[in-house]
Amino acid sequence: MDLSFNEADEQFRAEFREWLAANLPMEWRERGFWRRQGEAGFEMRRQWEADKAKAGFAGIQWPKEYGGRGGTPAQRAIYDEEMVRHRAPLTVNSLGLTFLAPTVMVIGTDEQKRDIIKPLLHNEVIWCQGFSEPNAGSDLASLQCRAELDGDEYVINGQKIWTSNAMHASKMFGLFRTSTEDKKHRGITMLLVDLRNPDGSFAPGVDIRPLKQMSGASDFGEVFFTDVRVPRSNIIGKEGGGWDVAMLLLSFERGASALPQYAAFRREVDDIVELAKTVGRDSDALLRQKIASSVVELECLRYHSLSVLTQVEQGKELGASSSMTKLQWSETHQDIGELFTDVAGLAHQVSGDGLDVTDLQQSFLWSRSETIWGGSSQIQRNIVSELVLGLPR
Ligand SMILES: Cc1cc2nc3c(=O)[nH]c(=O)nc-3n(C[C@H](O)[C@H](O)[C@H](O)COP(=O)(O)OP(=O)(O)OC[C@H]3O[C@@H](n4cnc5c(N)ncnc54)[C@H](O)[C@@H]3O)c2cc1C
Repeated sequence: MDLSFNEADEQFRAEFREWLAANLPMEWRERGFWRRQGEAGFEMRRQWEADKAKAGFAGIQWPKEYGGRGGTPAQRAIYDEEMVRHRAPLTVNSLGLTFLAPTVMVIGTDEQKRDIIKPLLHNEVIWCQGFSEPNAGSDLASLQCRAELDGDEYVINGQKIWTSNAMHASKMFGLFRTSTEDKKHRGITMLLVDLRNPDGSFAPGVDIRPLKQMSGASDFGEVFFTDVRVPRSNIIGKEGGGWDVAMLLLSFERGASALPQYAAFRREVDDIVELAKTVGRDSDALLRQKIASSVVELECLRYHSLSVLTQVEQGKELGASSSMTKLQWSETHQDIGELFTDVAGLAHQVSGDGLDVTDLQQSFLWSRSETIWGGSSQIQRNIVSELVLGLPR
Protein backbone atom coordinates (compact mmCIF):
# COMPACT_ATOMS: atom_id res chain seq x y z
CA MET A 1 0.00 0.00 0.00
CA ASP A 2 1.32 3.40 -0.98
CA LEU A 3 0.49 6.11 1.58
CA SER A 4 1.95 9.04 -0.33
CA PHE A 5 0.99 11.03 -3.43
CA ASN A 6 3.67 11.76 -6.03
CA GLU A 7 4.85 15.20 -7.18
CA ALA A 8 2.48 15.40 -10.17
CA ASP A 9 -0.45 14.54 -7.88
CA GLU A 10 0.52 17.20 -5.34
CA GLN A 11 0.91 19.72 -8.19
CA PHE A 12 -2.63 18.87 -9.29
CA ARG A 13 -3.86 19.35 -5.71
CA ALA A 14 -2.25 22.80 -5.55
CA GLU A 15 -3.81 23.87 -8.88
CA PHE A 16 -7.25 22.69 -7.86
CA ARG A 17 -6.99 24.40 -4.46
CA GLU A 18 -6.07 27.62 -6.24
CA TRP A 19 -9.09 27.35 -8.52
CA LEU A 20 -11.41 26.64 -5.58
CA ALA A 21 -9.99 29.59 -3.62
CA ALA A 22 -10.81 31.89 -6.54
CA ASN A 23 -14.13 30.39 -7.61
CA LEU A 24 -15.94 28.98 -4.59
CA PRO A 25 -17.64 31.85 -2.73
CA MET A 26 -16.95 31.80 1.02
CA GLU A 27 -20.64 31.99 1.96
CA TRP A 28 -21.29 28.82 -0.08
CA ARG A 29 -19.04 26.96 2.39
CA GLU A 30 -21.05 27.99 5.43
CA ARG A 31 -23.17 25.46 7.27
CA GLY A 32 -26.78 25.49 6.14
CA PHE A 33 -26.13 27.64 3.04
CA TRP A 34 -27.53 25.11 0.56
CA ARG A 35 -30.49 24.32 2.79
CA ARG A 36 -31.45 27.99 2.76
CA GLN A 37 -31.32 28.16 -1.07
CA GLY A 38 -34.06 25.52 -1.47
CA GLU A 39 -34.89 24.63 -5.08
CA ALA A 40 -32.89 27.60 -6.46
CA GLY A 41 -29.75 25.90 -5.15
CA PHE A 42 -29.99 23.20 -7.81
CA GLU A 43 -29.54 25.68 -10.68
CA MET A 44 -26.68 27.44 -8.83
CA ARG A 45 -24.87 24.15 -8.35
CA ARG A 46 -25.54 23.09 -11.93
CA GLN A 47 -24.01 26.29 -13.32
CA TRP A 48 -21.02 26.28 -10.94
CA GLU A 49 -20.24 22.69 -11.84
CA ALA A 50 -20.45 23.51 -15.56
CA ASP A 51 -17.97 26.39 -15.05
CA LYS A 52 -15.68 24.03 -13.16
CA ALA A 53 -15.81 21.60 -16.10
CA LYS A 54 -14.91 24.42 -18.50
CA ALA A 55 -11.90 25.20 -16.28
CA GLY A 56 -10.73 21.57 -16.66
CA PHE A 57 -11.67 20.31 -13.20
CA ALA A 58 -14.18 17.62 -14.14
CA GLY A 59 -13.90 14.09 -15.51
CA ILE A 60 -10.49 14.04 -13.82
CA GLN A 61 -9.72 10.45 -14.78
CA TRP A 62 -11.49 10.52 -18.15
CA PRO A 63 -9.57 10.63 -21.44
CA LYS A 64 -9.12 14.09 -22.94
CA GLU A 65 -10.92 13.04 -26.14
CA TYR A 66 -14.16 12.86 -24.10
CA GLY A 67 -13.65 16.24 -22.47
CA GLY A 68 -11.91 14.78 -19.41
CA ARG A 69 -8.60 15.78 -17.85
CA GLY A 70 -6.69 12.57 -18.57
CA GLY A 71 -5.59 12.28 -14.92
CA THR A 72 -4.87 9.28 -12.68
CA PRO A 73 -7.04 7.48 -10.06
CA ALA A 74 -4.93 9.20 -7.37
CA GLN A 75 -5.77 12.63 -8.84
CA ARG A 76 -9.42 11.67 -8.92
CA ALA A 77 -9.19 10.79 -5.20
CA ILE A 78 -7.43 14.11 -4.49
CA TYR A 79 -10.15 15.98 -6.39
CA ASP A 80 -12.88 14.27 -4.32
CA GLU A 81 -11.02 14.98 -1.10
CA GLU A 82 -10.49 18.67 -1.88
CA MET A 83 -14.14 19.12 -2.89
CA VAL A 84 -15.19 17.83 0.54
CA ARG A 85 -12.52 19.77 2.45
CA HIS A 86 -13.57 23.04 0.81
CA ARG A 87 -17.24 22.29 1.39
CA ALA A 88 -17.85 22.55 -2.36
CA PRO A 89 -21.41 21.76 -3.49
CA LEU A 90 -22.28 18.17 -4.36
CA THR A 91 -22.58 17.30 -8.04
CA VAL A 92 -26.06 17.53 -9.57
CA ASN A 93 -25.32 14.73 -12.06
CA SER A 94 -23.84 11.96 -9.94
CA LEU A 95 -25.64 9.06 -11.64
CA GLY A 96 -24.56 10.14 -15.09
CA LEU A 97 -20.99 10.80 -13.96
CA THR A 98 -20.56 7.64 -11.90
CA PHE A 99 -22.37 5.18 -14.09
CA LEU A 100 -23.48 6.23 -17.54
CA ALA A 101 -20.46 8.05 -18.94
CA PRO A 102 -17.85 5.38 -18.00
CA THR A 103 -20.15 2.70 -19.48
CA VAL A 104 -20.62 4.61 -22.74
CA MET A 105 -16.84 5.11 -22.98
CA VAL A 106 -16.38 1.34 -22.92
CA ILE A 107 -19.31 0.00 -24.98
CA GLY A 108 -21.10 3.01 -26.52
CA THR A 109 -21.27 3.66 -30.26
CA ASP A 110 -19.28 6.62 -31.64
CA GLU A 111 -22.52 8.65 -31.82
CA GLN A 112 -23.38 7.81 -28.19
CA LYS A 113 -19.88 8.82 -27.05
CA ARG A 114 -20.23 12.13 -28.89
CA ASP A 115 -23.81 12.86 -27.83
CA ILE A 116 -23.72 11.72 -24.21
CA ILE A 117 -20.37 12.25 -22.51
CA LYS A 118 -19.47 15.92 -22.98
CA PRO A 119 -23.03 17.29 -22.54
CA LEU A 120 -23.22 15.27 -19.32
CA LEU A 121 -19.90 16.60 -18.05
CA HIS A 122 -21.11 20.15 -18.67
CA ASN A 123 -24.53 19.51 -17.10
CA GLU A 124 -26.42 20.23 -20.30
CA VAL A 125 -28.29 16.96 -19.67
CA ILE A 126 -29.10 15.66 -16.17
CA TRP A 127 -29.49 11.88 -15.93
CA CYS A 128 -31.24 9.49 -13.56
CA GLN A 129 -30.94 5.72 -13.18
CA GLY A 130 -34.06 3.57 -13.63
CA PHE A 131 -33.19 0.14 -12.29
CA SER A 132 -35.30 -0.53 -9.16
CA GLU A 133 -38.98 -1.39 -9.27
CA PRO A 134 -41.48 -2.11 -6.47
CA ASN A 135 -40.69 -5.85 -6.71
CA ALA A 136 -37.13 -5.65 -8.00
CA GLY A 137 -34.50 -4.13 -5.72
CA SER A 138 -31.82 -6.50 -4.44
CA ASP A 139 -33.32 -9.07 -6.81
CA LEU A 140 -32.93 -6.71 -9.77
CA ALA A 141 -33.34 -9.44 -12.40
CA SER A 142 -37.04 -9.71 -11.42
CA LEU A 143 -37.77 -6.36 -13.06
CA GLN A 144 -41.03 -6.20 -15.03
CA CYS A 145 -41.17 -2.77 -16.72
CA ARG A 146 -41.76 -3.76 -20.38
CA ALA A 147 -40.33 -2.36 -23.60
CA GLU A 148 -41.98 -3.93 -26.65
CA LEU A 149 -40.70 -3.43 -30.16
CA ASP A 150 -43.08 -1.69 -32.57
CA GLY A 151 -41.35 -1.01 -35.89
CA ASP A 152 -38.23 1.01 -35.14
CA GLU A 153 -39.38 2.03 -31.68
CA TYR A 154 -39.79 0.47 -28.25
CA VAL A 155 -43.04 1.11 -26.40
CA ILE A 156 -42.49 1.25 -22.62
CA ASN A 157 -45.14 0.45 -20.00
CA GLY A 158 -44.58 0.04 -16.28
CA GLN A 159 -42.95 1.70 -13.30
CA LYS A 160 -39.60 2.52 -11.74
CA ILE A 161 -39.15 3.49 -8.09
CA TRP A 162 -36.56 5.10 -5.78
CA THR A 163 -35.24 6.98 -8.81
CA SER A 164 -32.73 9.50 -7.42
CA ASN A 165 -32.77 12.91 -9.08
CA ALA A 166 -35.97 12.01 -10.99
CA MET A 167 -37.37 15.45 -10.12
CA HIS A 168 -34.54 17.17 -12.03
CA ALA A 169 -33.47 14.67 -14.67
CA SER A 170 -34.36 15.15 -18.31
CA LYS A 171 -33.23 11.65 -19.30
CA MET A 172 -33.06 8.17 -17.76
CA PHE A 173 -30.78 5.22 -18.42
CA GLY A 174 -32.88 2.26 -17.41
CA LEU A 175 -33.30 -1.48 -17.55
CA PHE A 176 -36.39 -2.78 -19.31
CA ARG A 177 -37.76 -6.24 -20.06
CA THR A 178 -37.70 -6.74 -23.82
CA SER A 179 -38.37 -10.49 -23.72
CA THR A 180 -40.08 -12.84 -21.28
CA GLU A 181 -39.10 -16.03 -23.06
CA ASP A 182 -35.54 -16.23 -21.78
CA LYS A 183 -34.10 -16.73 -18.26
CA LYS A 184 -34.84 -13.72 -16.05
CA HIS A 185 -31.28 -12.35 -16.34
CA ARG A 186 -31.65 -12.39 -20.12
CA GLY A 187 -34.35 -10.50 -22.01
CA ILE A 188 -33.36 -7.26 -20.25
CA THR A 189 -32.19 -4.27 -22.31
CA MET A 190 -30.67 -0.95 -21.26
CA LEU A 191 -32.45 1.96 -22.95
CA LEU A 192 -32.03 5.74 -22.84
CA VAL A 193 -35.39 7.45 -22.32
CA ASP A 194 -36.35 11.13 -22.68
CA LEU A 195 -38.34 12.06 -19.58
CA ARG A 196 -39.02 15.71 -20.40
CA ASN A 197 -39.79 18.03 -23.28
CA PRO A 198 -37.41 20.96 -23.89
CA ASP A 199 -39.73 23.24 -21.84
CA GLY A 200 -39.33 20.96 -18.78
CA SER A 201 -42.81 19.40 -18.95
CA PHE A 202 -43.07 15.59 -18.89
CA ALA A 203 -42.57 13.82 -22.22
CA PRO A 204 -45.69 12.07 -23.62
CA GLY A 205 -46.68 9.09 -21.41
CA VAL A 206 -44.23 9.96 -18.60
CA ASP A 207 -45.36 10.79 -15.08
CA ILE A 208 -42.94 11.48 -12.22
CA ARG A 209 -44.02 11.73 -8.59
CA PRO A 210 -41.74 12.72 -5.73
CA LEU A 211 -41.24 10.42 -2.74
CA LYS A 212 -40.76 12.17 0.57
CA GLN A 213 -37.96 10.96 2.82
CA MET A 214 -37.94 11.12 6.62
CA SER A 215 -35.58 14.11 6.34
CA GLY A 216 -38.37 16.03 4.57
CA ALA A 217 -36.47 16.14 1.26
CA SER A 218 -37.57 14.42 -1.95
CA ASP A 219 -34.28 13.33 -3.47
CA PHE A 220 -35.97 10.51 -5.32
CA GLY A 221 -39.28 9.68 -6.97
CA GLU A 222 -41.43 7.20 -8.83
CA VAL A 223 -41.45 7.20 -12.63
CA PHE A 224 -44.46 5.82 -14.52
CA PHE A 225 -44.47 4.97 -18.23
CA THR A 226 -47.62 4.65 -20.36
CA ASP A 227 -46.92 3.85 -24.03
CA VAL A 228 -43.69 5.85 -23.99
CA ARG A 229 -41.96 5.55 -27.37
CA VAL A 230 -38.19 5.26 -27.58
CA PRO A 231 -36.14 4.85 -30.81
CA ARG A 232 -34.53 1.42 -31.15
CA SER A 233 -31.16 3.15 -31.57
CA ASN A 234 -31.35 4.25 -27.90
CA ILE A 235 -29.95 0.90 -26.73
CA ILE A 236 -26.73 0.81 -24.73
CA GLY A 237 -24.96 -2.45 -25.54
CA LYS A 238 -26.96 -5.26 -27.11
CA GLU A 239 -30.67 -5.99 -27.17
CA GLY A 240 -31.29 -8.55 -24.41
CA GLY A 241 -27.79 -7.93 -23.03
CA GLY A 242 -28.84 -5.36 -20.42
CA TRP A 243 -27.79 -7.51 -17.46
CA ASP A 244 -24.16 -7.56 -18.62
CA VAL A 245 -24.31 -3.79 -19.23
CA ALA A 246 -25.72 -3.28 -15.72
CA MET A 247 -22.89 -5.33 -14.18
CA LEU A 248 -20.30 -3.31 -16.10
CA LEU A 249 -22.01 -0.08 -15.05
CA LEU A 250 -22.16 -1.04 -11.37
CA SER A 251 -18.48 -2.01 -11.40
CA PHE A 252 -17.58 1.67 -11.86
CA GLU A 253 -19.11 2.55 -8.49
CA ARG A 254 -17.52 -0.44 -6.85
CA GLY A 255 -14.09 0.58 -8.14
CA ALA A 256 -14.12 3.80 -6.17
CA SER A 257 -12.19 4.30 -2.94
CA ALA A 258 -13.92 5.83 0.10
CA LEU A 259 -11.49 8.71 0.61
CA PRO A 260 -14.14 11.40 -0.05
CA GLN A 261 -16.45 9.73 2.47
CA TYR A 262 -13.57 9.66 4.95
CA ALA A 263 -12.99 13.40 4.50
CA ALA A 264 -16.72 14.21 4.88
CA PHE A 265 -17.21 11.98 7.94
CA ARG A 266 -14.05 13.28 9.61
CA ARG A 267 -15.47 16.78 9.32
CA GLU A 268 -18.72 15.56 10.88
CA VAL A 269 -16.87 14.06 13.85
CA ASP A 270 -15.05 17.40 14.31
CA ASP A 271 -18.47 19.12 14.32
CA ILE A 272 -19.75 16.60 16.89
CA VAL A 273 -16.74 17.30 19.13
CA GLU A 274 -17.52 21.03 18.86
CA LEU A 275 -21.14 20.27 19.73
CA ALA A 276 -20.04 18.24 22.80
CA LYS A 277 -18.10 21.29 23.99
CA THR A 278 -21.04 23.63 23.31
CA VAL A 279 -23.52 21.53 25.27
CA GLY A 280 -20.97 20.90 28.07
CA ARG A 281 -20.70 17.14 27.52
CA ASP A 282 -17.06 16.99 26.50
CA SER A 283 -15.98 15.59 29.86
CA ASP A 284 -18.57 12.79 29.86
CA ALA A 285 -16.39 9.66 30.05
CA LEU A 286 -18.79 7.44 28.08
CA LEU A 287 -19.18 9.95 25.26
CA ARG A 288 -15.42 10.46 25.06
CA GLN A 289 -15.02 6.69 24.60
CA LYS A 290 -17.60 6.71 21.81
CA ILE A 291 -15.97 9.66 20.06
CA ALA A 292 -12.59 7.92 20.25
CA SER A 293 -14.14 4.73 18.79
CA SER A 294 -15.53 6.70 15.85
CA VAL A 295 -12.13 8.24 15.17
CA VAL A 296 -10.53 4.76 15.21
CA GLU A 297 -13.19 3.44 12.80
CA LEU A 298 -12.59 6.41 10.54
CA GLU A 299 -8.83 5.93 10.44
CA CYS A 300 -9.38 2.24 9.54
CA LEU A 301 -11.60 3.48 6.69
CA ARG A 302 -8.84 5.81 5.50
CA TYR A 303 -6.20 3.06 5.39
CA HIS A 304 -8.57 0.63 3.70
CA SER A 305 -9.36 3.35 1.11
CA LEU A 306 -5.69 4.01 0.45
CA SER A 307 -5.16 0.28 -0.03
CA VAL A 308 -8.08 0.16 -2.53
CA LEU A 309 -6.67 3.18 -4.35
CA THR A 310 -3.26 1.49 -4.65
CA GLN A 311 -4.92 -1.60 -6.13
CA VAL A 312 -6.85 0.53 -8.64
CA GLU A 313 -3.66 2.41 -9.61
CA GLN A 314 -1.97 -0.96 -10.20
CA GLY A 315 -4.89 -2.09 -12.40
CA LYS A 316 -5.84 -4.93 -10.03
CA GLU A 317 -9.32 -6.45 -9.82
CA LEU A 318 -10.99 -5.38 -6.58
CA GLY A 319 -13.24 -8.42 -6.13
CA ALA A 320 -14.83 -8.55 -2.69
CA SER A 321 -12.82 -5.63 -1.29
CA SER A 322 -15.29 -3.22 -2.94
CA SER A 323 -18.08 -4.86 -0.90
CA MET A 324 -15.95 -4.41 2.22
CA THR A 325 -15.44 -0.74 1.33
CA LYS A 326 -19.19 -0.20 0.97
CA LEU A 327 -19.89 -1.98 4.27
CA GLN A 328 -17.15 -0.11 6.06
CA TRP A 329 -18.03 3.44 5.01
CA SER A 330 -21.83 3.09 5.27
CA GLU A 331 -21.76 1.46 8.70
CA THR A 332 -19.06 3.82 10.01
CA HIS A 333 -21.27 6.73 8.98
CA GLN A 334 -24.28 5.26 10.76
CA ASP A 335 -22.17 4.88 13.92
CA ILE A 336 -21.21 8.56 13.62
CA GLY A 337 -24.92 9.39 13.32
CA GLU A 338 -25.61 7.47 16.53
CA LEU A 339 -22.76 9.35 18.18
CA PHE A 340 -24.41 12.62 17.16
CA THR A 341 -27.73 11.59 18.73
CA ASP A 342 -25.90 10.62 21.96
CA VAL A 343 -24.07 13.95 22.13
CA ALA A 344 -27.01 16.14 21.14
CA GLY A 345 -29.56 14.30 23.31
CA LEU A 346 -33.11 15.49 22.63
CA ALA A 347 -31.74 18.40 20.56
CA HIS A 348 -30.96 15.92 17.76
CA GLN A 349 -34.68 15.93 16.98
CA VAL A 350 -35.22 19.70 16.97
CA SER A 351 -32.97 22.71 16.60
CA GLY A 352 -33.62 25.57 18.97
CA ASP A 353 -32.26 27.76 21.77
CA GLY A 354 -29.50 28.96 19.47
CA LEU A 355 -28.32 25.39 18.83
CA ASP A 356 -28.46 24.67 15.09
CA VAL A 357 -27.74 21.00 14.52
CA THR A 358 -29.74 20.70 11.28
CA ASP A 359 -26.77 19.69 9.10
CA LEU A 360 -25.76 16.90 11.48
CA GLN A 361 -29.37 15.87 11.87
CA GLN A 362 -29.86 15.66 8.07
CA SER A 363 -26.67 13.69 7.69
CA PHE A 364 -27.76 11.27 10.43
CA LEU A 365 -31.12 10.71 8.71
CA TRP A 366 -29.46 10.28 5.28
CA SER A 367 -26.98 7.77 6.72
CA ARG A 368 -29.87 5.38 7.40
CA SER A 369 -30.30 4.96 3.62
CA GLU A 370 -26.63 4.30 2.95
CA THR A 371 -26.83 0.64 3.97
CA ILE A 372 -29.66 0.16 1.45
CA TRP A 373 -28.73 1.82 -1.85
CA GLY A 374 -25.82 0.65 -3.98
CA GLY A 375 -26.34 -2.90 -2.64
CA SER A 376 -27.62 -3.38 0.91
CA SER A 377 -25.36 -4.45 3.78
CA GLN A 378 -26.91 -7.93 3.75
CA ILE A 379 -26.11 -8.33 0.05
CA GLN A 380 -22.53 -7.12 0.59
CA ARG A 381 -22.09 -9.60 3.45
CA ASN A 382 -23.38 -12.39 1.20
CA ILE A 383 -20.69 -11.44 -1.35
CA VAL A 384 -17.93 -11.34 1.27
CA SER A 385 -19.03 -14.67 2.77
CA GLU A 386 -18.96 -16.34 -0.64
CA LEU A 387 -15.88 -14.76 -2.23
CA VAL A 388 -13.65 -14.34 0.84
CA LEU A 389 -14.79 -17.09 3.20
CA GLY A 390 -15.84 -19.59 0.53
CA LEU A 391 -19.20 -20.23 2.20
CA PRO A 392 -21.95 -21.81 0.04
CA ARG A 393 -24.47 -19.57 -1.78
C1 LIG B 1 -31.63 6.89 -1.01
C2 LIG B 1 -31.86 5.85 -2.07
C3 LIG B 1 -31.59 6.16 -3.40
C4 LIG B 1 -31.83 5.23 -4.40
N1 LIG B 1 -31.61 5.59 -5.71
C5 LIG B 1 -31.89 4.69 -6.69
C6 LIG B 1 -31.76 5.08 -8.07
O1 LIG B 1 -31.37 6.21 -8.40
N2 LIG B 1 -32.09 4.18 -9.03
C7 LIG B 1 -32.51 2.92 -8.71
O2 LIG B 1 -32.76 2.15 -9.63
N3 LIG B 1 -32.67 2.53 -7.42
C8 LIG B 1 -32.37 3.39 -6.41
N4 LIG B 1 -32.53 3.01 -5.09
C9 LIG B 1 -33.08 1.71 -4.79
C10 LIG B 1 -32.06 0.71 -4.21
O3 LIG B 1 -31.20 0.24 -5.21
C11 LIG B 1 -32.87 -0.42 -3.55
O4 LIG B 1 -33.55 0.14 -2.43
C12 LIG B 1 -31.99 -1.56 -3.11
O5 LIG B 1 -31.51 -2.25 -4.22
C13 LIG B 1 -32.75 -2.53 -2.19
O6 LIG B 1 -33.90 -2.95 -2.81
P1 LIG B 1 -35.33 -2.88 -2.07
O7 LIG B 1 -35.50 -1.52 -1.50
O8 LIG B 1 -36.34 -3.38 -3.01
O9 LIG B 1 -35.20 -3.85 -0.84
P2 LIG B 1 -35.25 -5.45 -0.89
O10 LIG B 1 -34.37 -5.95 -1.99
O11 LIG B 1 -36.67 -5.89 -0.90
O12 LIG B 1 -34.58 -5.83 0.47
C14 LIG B 1 -35.29 -5.78 1.73
C15 LIG B 1 -34.37 -6.33 2.81
O13 LIG B 1 -34.08 -7.71 2.53
C16 LIG B 1 -32.67 -7.92 2.46
N5 LIG B 1 -32.35 -8.89 1.42
C17 LIG B 1 -32.82 -8.91 0.15
N6 LIG B 1 -32.29 -9.96 -0.52
C18 LIG B 1 -31.47 -10.61 0.35
C19 LIG B 1 -30.63 -11.77 0.25
N7 LIG B 1 -30.53 -12.46 -0.88
N8 LIG B 1 -29.91 -12.11 1.36
C20 LIG B 1 -30.01 -11.42 2.53
N9 LIG B 1 -30.80 -10.33 2.68
C21 LIG B 1 -31.52 -9.93 1.60
C22 LIG B 1 -32.09 -6.55 2.09
O14 LIG B 1 -30.75 -6.43 2.49
C23 LIG B 1 -33.03 -5.61 2.87
O15 LIG B 1 -32.61 -5.52 4.19
C24 LIG B 1 -32.30 3.93 -4.06
C25 LIG B 1 -32.54 3.61 -2.72
C26 LIG B 1 -32.34 4.56 -1.74
C27 LIG B 1 -32.63 4.17 -0.31
